[in-house]
Amino acid sequence: MLKGKTALVTGSTSGIGLGIAKALAAQGASVMLNGFGEVDAAKAEVAALGVRVGYHGADMSQPGEIAEMISACQAEFGALDILVNNAGIQYVAPVDEFPVERWDAIIAINLSSAFHTSRLALPGMKARGWGRIINVASVHGLVASANKSAYVAAKHGIIGLTKTTALETATTGVTANAICPGWVLTPLVQKQVDARAAAEGVSNEEAKRRLLAEKEPSLQFTTPEELGAMAVFMCSPAANNLRGAAINMDGGWVAQ
Ligand code: NAD
Repeated sequence: MLKGKTALVTGSTSGIGLGIAKALAAQGASVMLNGFGEVDAAKAEVAALGVRVGYHGADMSQPGEIAEMISACQAEFGALDILVNNAGIQYVAPVDEFPVERWDAIIAINLSSAFHTSRLALPGMKARGWGRIINVASVHGLVASANKSAYVAAKHGIIGLTKTTALETATTGVTANAICPGWVLTPLVQKQVDARAAAEGVSNEEAKRRLLAEKEPSLQFTTPEELGAMAVFMCSPAANNLRGAAINMDGGWVAQ
């Protein structure tokens, strides 16, 4: 379905981003990966699906590096058709103890980077008459949790950015939507599981159960594969008029 299209997925060396990159590749899209850490392993996993894979190591907190990445994608693949803004970090502390540099980093990586990639990708998408912007927000774009001020502010912000982008492109073949996962067991969440296990003196399994029981009625993690399938749907013709939506995949979290 996506043969001939190029996708750029930020923060795609692990977790949700890698899951979405693989789902788009399985539909035939060429993929440019981004992120830190296990770059070669991520490239190999996507390449195994038989598509062209590129990589750019731009730091999503640096607008200049983001611009270089968008130019590199367009130069290497000829276009940028599907932009998935996924890179994100977390930090947990009460507002009055929140380190200022952590606030700035979370706003830069989880929110401002999506503005920069979008503003640079949109002209090409509009010129070609087709494009998809998929912002990986969170249930924390819809509701808050204590001690996550920067993350919640950034995720609410990215849903606002998604809606505005959708309105500005409403009469074109470009759409913008957000996906709002509940808990997904990725390295980002494993850190929170580890912290809970240590704080409460319980096993890894029990810490996971407690984490889910607090917020997620299904008592199940959403998977990167399920989120990848949603991204594929958003790229399909069935989603041509899905615009400015923030779809929660959260085991019932925000239904409460
Ligand atoms: P993860 O830690 O597994 O992956 C994060 C990715 O972002 C990695 O590839 C990492 O290298 C990259 N990254 C981090 N800082 C970067 C930077 N400055 N520049 C470029 N890349 C950078 O995390 P994840 O859980 O897969 O999270 C992905 C997205 O999903 C985030 O936006 C997160 O907020 C969101 N999300 C996660 C959950 C969850 O439960 N895991 C729930 C809702 C939303």
